[in-house]
Amino acid sequence: SKALQITNLSKTYGNGFTALKGVSLSVEKGDFFALLGANGAGKSTMIGIISSLVNKTSGEVNIHGFDLDTQRSEAKAMIGLVPQEFNFNVFEPVEEILLNQAGYYGVGRSEAKVRAKQLLEQLELWDKRKNMASELSGGMKRRLMIARALIHRPQLLILDEPTAGVDIEIRRSMWDFLKKLNEAGITIILTTHYLEEAENLCRNIAIINKGDIVENTSMKALLSHL
Ligand code: ADP
Ligand code: ADP
Repeated sequence: SKALQITNLSKTYGNGFTALKGVSLSVEKGDFFALLGANGAGKSTMIGIISSLVNKTSGEVNIHGFDLDTQRSEAKAMIGLVPQEFNFNVFEPVEEILLNQAGYYGVGRSEAKVRAKQLLEQLELWDKRKNMASELSGGMKRRLMIARALIHRPQLLILDEPTAGVDIEIRRSMWDFLKKLNEAGITIILTTHYLEEAENLCRNIAIINKGDIVENTSMKALLSHL
């Protein structure tokens, strides 16, 4: 199966606005994939649907062979989501945020502690494990969101504008970390409106414009006709 297979996906919001107009897309296992598009193109809507935060209007979504309608919990377990906005309780200690998230996915406390330590070390947050999230810098909060998204060992990591508003040094170290994750076999899909980020990281891309996919190609092919 594919890491992700989307067929004829449409989304019309409650106010009648159609944000996705029957899009189809597939992403191979192991790929590093960019969903590129201007603000308002429909990127967040698409990944919201894939990660079960937004209901679709019609179409099909399959994640690692699991259908989002009929096998939702299996499909959800395959995915780690790094949303654009911080959405954790900032008055909770960093390590607790990870342990609670692990619990939410049924990972036992002692196993969760092992995983949390590993992730916090890799993401250079181990020294901050006892701090409340409110005490972290913007770049640290973003790394914490990545750690949280990985605690249940998903096969597919989805990041919404992962480095928006992050300074260049942190951005580079996040890029390095994501490259290593991908080399370790995790499929990565990120949204960005920042071509350099896609160019730096991604093998394949789709360009979304006003709810339609207007290009779906390799990064190499895209760059050769720019
Ligand atoms: P992107 O992530 O590419 O910036 P979004 O998926 O956030 O795009 O938004 C796509 C379009 O859908 C935009 O025009 C946005 O205003 C609209 N939209 C997003 N969320 C809602 C909502 N809850 N209700 C109505 N319209 C929405
Ligand atoms: P429920 O399935 O019980 O409705 P929610 O979707 O409300 O759960 O999610 C509960 C919390 O877990 C929220 O903070 C949400 O952002 C987070 N969450 C849900 N799914 C994921 C995921 N795949 N990766 C990371 N965080 C997630």
